[in-house]
Amino acid sequence: MAGIYIHIPYCKQACHYCDFHFSTNLNTKSDLIDAILKEIDLQKDYLKGEIVETIYFGGGTPSILSKQELDSILNRVSKEFSISENPEITLESNPDDLSQSKLKAMKSSSINRLSIGIQTFDDKILTYFNRAHHSKMALDAVTTAQQLGFKNISIDLIFGVPNQTLNVLKNDLEQALKLNTPHISIYGLTIEENTVFGKWEKQNKLTTIDEDLAAEHLELIMDTLAAAGYNQYEISNFSLEGFESKHNSSYWHGKKYLGLGPGAHSFNGIERQFNYAHNIKYIKKLQDNLLPSTLEKLSSEDQINETILTQIRLKEGINCEHLKNSHHFDLIDEKEDSINEFLQMDLLKISGNYLRLTSKGKLLADFITEKLII
Ligand code: SF4
Repeated sequence: MAGIYIHIPYCKQACHYCDFHFSTNLNTKSDLIDAILKEIDLQKDYLKGEIVETIYFGGGTPSILSKQELDSILNRVSKEFSISENPEITLESNPDDLSQSKLKAMKSSSINRLSIGIQTFDDKILTYFNRAHHSKMALDAVTTAQQLGFKNISIDLIFGVPNQTLNVLKNDLEQALKLNTPHISIYGLTIEENTVFGKWEKQNKLTTIDEDLAAEHLELIMDTLAAAGYNQYEISNFSLEGFESKHNSSYWHGKKYLGLGPGAHSFNGIERQFNYAHNIKYIKKLQDNLLPSTLEKLSSEDQINETILTQIRLKEGINCEHLKNSHHFDLIDEKEDSINEFLQMDLLKISGNYLRLTSKGKLLADFITEKLII
């Protein structure tokens, strides 16, 4: 079983915190779609006939595309790959794109899951982020999508924002719960170098929130969402039963996937393939019938670290038996001192073959992970 990711590298405007690959110049859009179609043709054997269970349009802002543009990509994917009977097909979208007519069009396509970038319901913070929407648009987008019959909706929120008090976060969570979407992703803000926030930080114009307050934010999120019946199946991802993201879960469990579009990457179980994160270079290569990517063979050390970094974030934790069998690495033995210390501090626990974070440990996940990798 495998997945396909399609990166749509366009946004209406640049959010001040974002370092994903995107451009606000949409002039290359139609050439880029042609290039993605060509890439599908060239990569049709990448998954070696494995059944594709999930398709994910990410970005950038895929909801910038029209239904026709999305359909042209989906049709080509269906033609060249074996798709399961009921694939999960997700569209990342921004509230300002989700008018009633756009949502109606999406509903008539095979897209069956929306991941909506709300980030916060606080209009001041939305402006501070340079987002293209305000909170009413977000509320309207979700309720309209629900009225039109989208059942599988996820919303994205951000915590740990400068000036985001616990009350602002409480309000975000209350609003999110009122919307009753079955999936909520909440990420802590990180300040990346090549962003406006990164520049402001260097110029001392931005005060990041301290680690203790960020931990308090995460604690509030975990308690509130658990009380509302959400399962924290990954540190940043919460779902009602049966609504976990199948696509993201397959990354975390090391399944194969093909990434299409500039900046996307692919994994065939052994090698990772990285597409150029440059729209023009990507288009040009494909116009010349060449793959727009470089290969990276993962060392055994890389594979061990990747497993630790992703699995420690999962509810079930790191499968130590699998690490031992597949990579000849006995984590419990190799990191005995650190693990014992964390067990005593009630930050980690061992359950069968799994080593997992406790609730307290989740608040210090980065620190603990740092001590476990090699
Ligand atoms: S956060 Fe989303 S909408 Fe904003 S610039 Fe990044 S990819 Fe685009």
